[in-house]
Amino acid sequence: MAMKIDEKGFNAVDIFLKEISEKGKSDTVCPYCKTRLELLTNNTSYEVKCQTQNCLRETFRGI
Ligand SMILES: [Zn+2]
Repeated sequence: MAMKIDEKGFNAVDIFLKEISEKGKSDTVCPYCKTRLELLTNNTSYEVKCQTQNCLRETFRGI
């Protein structure tokens, strides 16, 4: 079961996506477990997640 993301998590995801779009990379870390966030993309959606299972994970539709 994935944990519910609160404002802290959403803020980190926002910063991460902004840096990715501006610089093509980001060193933003998960506010909960302090590991690097990563971006996974597929055809119709993309996903921001940290490297810990069942921690921060946010899926978006379309790019
Ligand atoms: Zn995490």
